[in-house]
Amino acid sequence: MTNPIAIGIAGVGKIARDQHLPALAANDGFRLIAGASRNATVDGINNYPSIEAMLKAEPALQAVSLCAPPQVRFAQASAALAAGKHVMLEKPPGASVAEVGVLAELALQNQCTLFASWHSRYAPGVEAARSWLAAQEVTGVHVQWKEDVRRWHPNQDWIWQPGGLGVFDPGINALSIVTRILPRPFFLKAADLLVPANRHNPIAANLDFTDAAGTPIRAEFDWRHGPEELWQIDVTTQGGTLRLSQGGKLLEIDGKTVDVGPEREYPNLYVRFFELIANGTSDVDVRPLQHVADALLLGDRKTVEPFVE
Ligand code: NAP
Repeated sequence: MTNPIAIGIAGVGKIARDQHLPALAANDGFRLIAGASRNATVDGINNYPSIEAMLKAEPALQAVSLCAPPQVRFAQASAALAAGKHVMLEKPPGASVAEVGVLAELALQNQCTLFASWHSRYAPGVEAARSWLAAQEVTGVHVQWKEDVRRWHPNQDWIWQPGGLGVFDPGINALSIVTRILPRPFFLKAADLLVPANRHNPIAANLDFTDAAGTPIRAEFDWRHGPEELWQIDVTTQGGTLRLSQGGKLLEIDGKTVDVGPEREYPNLYVRFFELIANGTSDVDVRPLQHVADALLLGDRKTVEPFVE
């Protein structure tokens, strides 16, 4: 058995504590040795105020997992890759599409793995949905990704700032699933972006996509929803209907529940990161981020009432 991969984590906030730390603790392939966060520390490891300080002080580090908001992703990832470390990026992989391509190139030059992770793709129903749809002729798709921003993003200013994506921060999870399960590529035709008068980013968005066959693919993202989340994707095909709900945890085909096993999104992300490192490869799919960028290119911005936390 080989030694576990020495890993560091940067940006110790909500998702690092909720998911990354427990997933790492349960994975024998990794040993968390250091953390980099301006204000937070993790018990039992060495802590540093920045990724640069961590990289300098911890030459034994082999990999880093980046959990800070997307606006600082490139600076952190490029520093880690330049130091020869394998890098896992939380979603979204960058604040722009092009910067992710630059990171992929840097990873190649430095013979490092770059894993642009999309945690929702590891929801238990997703691969089963993809397999079933592979043999179907899709006739329509309806995505509804609606939640209460006050519940899921309390006091997170970065989501409202340039690069923070607004409602596309959760919406991109739906796009990461749809780009995985649909058999054909698709593209945006039109979008409405509902932007609070006092904010930079949309609080809701309605997107109309299609594909080469003209299939209607409609996505509705809304942060003014509640109290129950609605994270659901409905696909109609010539051979029946498919519903992924609860963010991909539940799969129904023609109204019947399919047994897809337990939720293991983040544990499976680290299984995948380990495999990529072992195989000396990278996994960088920018399509979900490209769709968001297209929405921001094509979208008709409509001002709605100010958002007050
Ligand atoms: P967060 O708690 O607001 O931020 C994570 C940590 O990043 C912060 O605690 C902060 O730690 C550090 N940070 C913030 N701004 C920074 C800056 N300008 N420079 C350097 N470090 C900074 O956010 P989060 O909810 O964990 O989300 C982080 C990423 O995970 C996002 O890309 C998000 O889309 C993704 N994600 C979040 C969730 C979720 O449920 N929250 C789920 C899946 C994925 P210090 O102040 O200690 O530096």
